[in-house]
Amino acid sequence: MNRLSVEEALNLIENASLQELGEMALAKKLELHPDKITTFIVDRNINYTNACFVDCKFCAFYRHVNENDAYILSYEEIDQKIDELIAIRGTQILFQGGVHPKLKIDWYEDLVEHIATKYPNITIHGFSAVELDYIAKISKISTLEALKRLQVKGLYSMPGAGAEILSDRVRDIVAPKKCDSDTWLRIHKEAHCIGMKTTATMMFGTVETDREIVEHWDKIRKLQDETGGFRAFILWSFQSANTKLIDEHPEIKKQSPNRYLRLLAVARLFLDNFKNIQSSWVTQGSYIGQLALKFGANDLGSTMMEENVVKAAGASFRMNQDEMIALIKDIGENPAKRNTNYDILERF
Ligand code: SF4
Repeated sequence: MNRLSVEEALNLIENASLQELGEMALAKKLELHPDKITTFIVDRNINYTNACFVDCKFCAFYRHVNENDAYILSYEEIDQKIDELIAIRGTQILFQGGVHPKLKIDWYEDLVEHIATKYPNITIHGFSAVELDYIAKISKISTLEALKRLQVKGLYSMPGAGAEILSDRVRDIVAPKKCDSDTWLRIHKEAHCIGMKTTATMMFGTVETDREIVEHWDKIRKLQDETGGFRAFILWSFQSANTKLIDEHPEIKKQSPNRYLRLLAVARLFLDNFKNIQSSWVTQGSYIGQLALKFGANDLGSTMMEENVVKAAGASFRMNQDEMIALIKDIGENPAKRNTNYDILERF
């Protein structure tokens, strides 16, 4: 199949039947993953702080730095969480804030060095373009320098958080203080250029149009053509509980599972240079998460020993490794535990 254009992808979102999309996305997935191996990772989210000044209207997780329940985890608390992860043979921490208004690069360097030195077998997949943008600003250095300094201390890769929809019209409504689309893309490009792989994400279901969704995919596909630095794409839907956005825009509708599967399938077809697409069972639940494997996803993401961000906005699905293995086998695929780099560690 030739590469889909923006107009063709838009046409598929708006006019193709769900069944047709599922068949095409599954065929594309099997072309990329003919062994029918569906992967997952055993990791843990560690939110080192919930203090944040960015005030994204879709976020129910953050607190202002002077609020009573704002926190910064101590080294001891972080170590304990990593010890618990090691006990279940986890390999990665997804390490993210809050964008704390006061912490500078040396604080982050010390923290990354502490973890990397004490836990050399744990991969630090951490921070985000949004955090990096602010760490660089408050430290009066470039984002490239901030990335390099954290990489030297042990930061292995960077998650795609903060992309939301890469349209400044949408960002101005849902997260006006967040870095703009070009900055998000530039920081990922800088990471790729110093050999640090990242992931790309999208949160849909707020005020975006279908065209803005496809234009987001077009931006990350172009950067992937240039650098090859994205390991995976992850799509999830806005979770509205406890958010300002739903108060200000009550017209926003909860996204149906069908809509999620429809977008996932077209993403699988459009992002032909992304090998891996994760199923977002954390927002969709385990059964839609399983069905997503028939709509182009080839990875179930994390077993999520701990998750705080979407839980604050109302989604609290949980799955352990055995449940994941059972769901994957149930649809005739082969489960495998992977590392951050998508290398297979163990088959079941
Ligand atoms: S999404 Fe991230 S940057 Fe935005 S308010 Fe929440 S914690 Fe802060």
